[in-house]
Amino acid sequence: MSNYKDNDGGKRGLDALSSLCKRRGFIFPSSEIYGGINGFWDYGPMGAELKRNIRDAWWRFMVQDREDVVGLDATIIMHPRVWQASGHASGFADPMVDCKDCKKRYRADQLCEEQGAKLVQKDGGWELPEGVKCLQCGSANLTEPRSFNLMFKTHVGPVEDESSATYLRPETAQAIFTQFLNIYATSRRSVPFGVAQSGKSFRNEINPRNYTFRSREFEQMELEFFIRPDEAVELIYGHVVTMADNPDLDGEPQQDWGWEVWHRYWVEQRLKWYRSIGLPSEALHLYWQKGDELAHYARACVDIEYEFPFGVQELEGIAARSDFDLSQHQKFSGKSMEVFDDHLKAAVSAMDEGAKQMFEQRTVSACILRGKSLDEAKAFCAGLFEGRYVPHVIEPSAGTDRLALAILCNAYDEETLTDSKGKPDVRTVMRLHPAIAPIKAAVLPLVKNRPELYAKAREIYKLLRKEWNCFWDESGAIGRRYRRQDEVGTPFCVTVDFETLDDDTVTVRRRDSMEQERVQVSSLVSWIGAAVRT
Ligand code: ATP
Repeated sequence: MSNYKDNDGGKRGLDALSSLCKRRGFIFPSSEIYGGINGFWDYGPMGAELKRNIRDAWWRFMVQDREDVVGLDATIIMHPRVWQASGHASGFADPMVDCKDCKKRYRADQLCEEQGAKLVQKDGGWELPEGVKCLQCGSANLTEPRSFNLMFKTHVGPVEDESSATYLRPETAQAIFTQFLNIYATSRRSVPFGVAQSGKSFRNEINPRNYTFRSREFEQMELEFFIRPDEAVELIYGHVVTMADNPDLDGEPQQDWGWEVWHRYWVEQRLKWYRSIGLPSEALHLYWQKGDELAHYARACVDIEYEFPFGVQELEGIAARSDFDLSQHQKFSGKSMEVFDDHLKAAVSAMDEGAKQMFEQRTVSACILRGKSLDEAKAFCAGLFEGRYVPHVIEPSAGTDRLALAILCNAYDEETLTDSKGKPDVRTVMRLHPAIAPIKAAVLPLVKNRPELYAKAREIYKLLRKEWNCFWDESGAIGRRYRRQDEVGTPFCVTVDFETLDDDTVTVRRRDSMEQERVQVSSLVSWIGAAVRT
């Protein structure tokens, strides 16, 4: 873990980090020459590489290295009905309050939380509890909380009226649901399978804060993993594996798993991935949402949280969302979102009428208990008996920028060394996992004025550049050049010196331990390659 945390709510730690990020080209305020724009951030040369590496590592883990997940790259602007079906048009709102005296604006739930209180829900709206005050001027003269929809509205085409109004997407997930039928028809996958997408999302957050943590434009990496309803699993396999059966979550997923096991499986997979890119287990926490915090359709939701300098906060939410999303789009679009399952059809064909009736009785009562109407419950059973159902979904939804911030916080370190004169010397080093470090190797010619040495170093630089993003640095004392690379988290510095010309070896200096070793130029690519894989 980084050693820069302090007890001022992380402000000093975050200041040190944001100043390094600005100075070394990780993150800049958007439109800075015009004074910036609150809640928007740009990624400079180092940040762009870092984010790309995070995205690529996610894609490799979630899509490329699995046979049951495919990808999607959908538009940011979609048909406005999408947001009616998803519930965002009516319900994607946060409560907002203003201080009538100093005009400061807050998200009401956060304002309450910061004063140890809880916002009260009343008659479909909200009410501030007694004693909550403005944090800026201390006044209790606050407006009533009012609902503020977080979606950015825009117009498609030249006419600006309600018929042309639509929104910038507030999450990437909905496109996966709206394209479900096309993907199902073309990808030759059957349930259980998933669809992954990463891309921009937009939320007009009332109070963007904590550096890039809560921004108005950000990126998400989302998976919708479609599974059979438990009732279909039961009909096919005669049982449903639950957590009580102690399933092996680390092994290959099994067809007879119920939703609960799939949900836990994805929590474990996601934790594994975070560890693989360098976030330590002890800084990651799971928060299981309680019954009253869950959306009405959700069966379970876990947040993976990270210990940021400003507190333990959400990195990713993993929700078991039942068949809510596809059913909503079925209702609003009039298109059936059901899949036909050969295994289910075959299993049902082998059942006798008595067994079917018993199954139906049990299933209808269970569905009614979960809030379905009698007609819906009967239609669900009738569908199952014909081999049809609307898939359920497990959704691991992560924020790329939030993760980049967690990774930067985790990597930042100030190490006190002793210099050659015995004086303390602080080394700032970004201890990034080599797989996501923006620069994998810097090539440094020991001197500039020896043409053979210089040419050899250029040759090595070009060789490495074909594999990874590398950096060429020929100016300044070698120690200073090492320190510059430490600050951007480059795991290896390759120094080309006089010995190189004799024996074709280079000095490789490791960022974290500062240890140096001689490596043959011919094995340099495989040597670095082994270290920069997750
Ligand atoms: P919060 O409660 O913090 O507003 P949320 O629970 O609404 O967030 P989700 O809708 O579950 O968030 O979004 C999934 C992920 O997208 C979050 O875990 C987070 O990593 C990321 N995310 C959401 N909103 C933002 C934002 N404003 N800025 C940066 N990342 C965000």
